This record gives sequence, structure tokens and C-alpha cells, in this order.
Amino acid sequence: MNKVRASAPQLEGLVPYDPKYLPAEAYLSANENPRDVDAEVRAAIARRIAQVPLNRYPDPLANRLRDLIAEANGLDRANVLLGNGGDELLFDVALAWGGPGRSFLNLPPTFSVYAANARLTNTRCVDVPRRADFSIDEAAVLERVGKGDIDFVIVTSPNNPTGQRASTAFIEELLDATDALVLVDEAYFEFSRATVRPLLATHENLAILRTFSKAFSLAGARLGYVLANAPVIEELCKVRQPYSVDAISQAIGEVVFENRARFEPGIREIIEERGRVMEALRTLPGVTAYPSDSNWILFSMEDAGAAWQYLYDRGVLVRDFSSAPMLEGCLRATIGTPEQNDAFIRGLRDFLAESRAQRARAMQ
Ligand SMILES: *Cc1c(COP(=O)(O)O)cnc(C)c1O
Repeated sequence: MNKVRASAPQLEGLVPYDPKYLPAEAYLSANENPRDVDAEVRAAIARRIAQVPLNRYPDPLANRLRDLIAEANGLDRANVLLGNGGDELLFDVALAWGGPGRSFLNLPPTFSVYAANARLTNTRCVDVPRRADFSIDEAAVLERVGKGDIDFVIVTSPNNPTGQRASTAFIEELLDATDALVLVDEAYFEFSRATVRPLLATHENLAILRTFSKAFSLAGARLGYVLANAPVIEELCKVRQPYSVDAISQAIGEVVFENRARFEPGIREIIEERGRVMEALRTLPGVTAYPSDSNWILFSMEDAGAAWQYLYDRGVLVRDFSSAPMLEGCLRATIGTPEQNDAFIRGLRDFLAESRAQRARAMQ
């Protein structure tokens, strides 16, 4: 067989994104909503989809959905851009504000997609690591952007996988300190109940990322959006794939957004369960749980890799970060239904009890 020549040099050694999805009874690994869209909304989606002409290209900008989102946020259509999941929009930001000779400021540990996109677009990635408690080193970030060579920054609020949101006062200071594009990734803002959207009125360099994948149970449909001032949206439109948001996803998004109030009880339940799981984790000896404004809890412990396996053997899939840089010994458990959360807590408690018993035997 003839050989193919090497791909682009920036791909060397790059590992494709792996969500580490495995069959399980309780999927607590991907920060999805544990509940699917309800039967009535599903029926409304089916009716809407039945009217979609499949032989025609979709509206490239999804203007109906754009208008719904704009209105709900007190903005205009020109301030909203839909994407094939938030992930596509993150790539568009790297294409439009990154590139050779340009720099991205990252605040690790955070969502790994940002650094991967920088690499794919030959953008230099400058790290300002978080502190030991995963809070942002605000003074270091402000000082770093002050040098003037940063082209875009991403602040994840709440931060995945560590859990807490960024302070609004800090984001405003950051926006004032630089003309770099500051993307605030609010993929989980429905669980933190906090947004920096009001700052759009005064800051052209702010963009906000949101998604339908988490609070709105639509990870399967691939829909995300950016809120920004019109000049930012126009630049993103230059790099985006024209038909990335297909007609079916647009139809699903319209129905779900029109019915968004119906998701509120589910969001409230997740927030309440988060409190309950946090309390339970705090009673477990040897487990350090990090505060969360989101729909998961990050925690660290000894033998985290073995704990992950123990939970998995009992049907509970959580996310293993125990060998990720800056997250040594950490696991992340998405908040599921009360039953799933009980199975998770029970599994972890049993693992700790068995480890203690084993250690006691070894000492005899
Ligand atoms: C889930 C997530 C997104 C977007 O996910 P999509 O499913 O592509 O919309 C963006 N940022 C963070 C931090 C996320 O966790």
C-alpha cells in the first residue's frame, strides 16, 4: 500500500477527544441532565420536525431561534449566534481571534477543549494556573493581560471541572484592563443562577457562551450560542461553517426554548441534590469535596483511580481526572436523579469502608 504523507505538524502527538463513555446504569460522567425532555415537549418536537423541509438547506443563522434567544436576553438578533454545540463556537472563537503569531490566555485546570483548539489553530497558549483551591489568580491574570499581547481569554463560569463561578467584579476588571476578546463560558449558568450578560451593554470585548446540552437536556441535539455585541458576532460569522446548525436541531431548539419554563423544576431539583450530595461527601473521611455552583461536584481522595473502578463495577460512571495535570486524585460526579446520587454516595462509602478494613487487616 502507498503511504500517505504526514498531516499538519500541529497534530503530532495530539490525542482525539475521548469522553470516556462506558456502559453504566448511572451516567454521572458528562454533566448531562439526568432527565430527558418530557413527553409533551417531545410530542411538540415531533410535530415541529414533521414540518421541516428536508430537501432544503436550513436557515444558515437559525434566525427564528436567534430571535427567541435575543428576546429572552433583552438583546437583538445581531447579538446572538447559534452553533453546532458550544464546542463549535469555541472553535470559531479560536479561528477568529487566534492563529499563528497570536496568543490565548488559559486558566487551567479547566475545559480541555480550549487548549486543544489553540493548538489546532497554531495559537500560542499562555497559562495562568488557578490557585490550590482552584480559585482564579485574579492579580496574575490582570497583570498578564496588561502586557498587551493576549488576543483572547476564556473564563469558565462556573469552571469545569472544578465547579465554582468567577466573580462578576473580576470579569468587569478584566474587561476594562484589556481589549482582548474575553469569552465567559456560561455553559452551566442555569445552575449558578449568575450571568455577566449586563456587562455586554458596556463592553464590546465580552462574549458569552451558553449551551442547550446541560440544563435543557439536549446534549444529543448539538446546540449552543454566543451572546456578544454585533462586531464580535460578525467576525465569528466569517469563520463559521454556513450550515453547521441543521434544520432538525433548529426545530428542536425552538420548541425547547419556547418551553424552557418546564425545565425549571428539574434545574431546581439538581441544585437541591447538589447540596445533599455535598453534605454527604463532607461526612466521608479522607474525601475533600470542592464547592460547586454547577451540576457536578469535584472531589479528591487517596486511591481515586481505585475508587473510580469500584464505583464503575457497581454501575456508577463518574469522570476520572485522577491522572490529569493539576487534578491529581480528583474525580468528578455529575448530579443525577436522587436515586443515582444515592447509588454514588453508597458506593463511595462502601469503597472507603472496604479500604479501611483492608488496611486494618494488613496491619495485623
Ligand atoms: C459542555 C460544555 C460546553 C459546550 O458543550 P456543547 O455540548 O458542545 O454545547 C462548553 N463549555 C464547557 C465548559 C462545557 O462543559
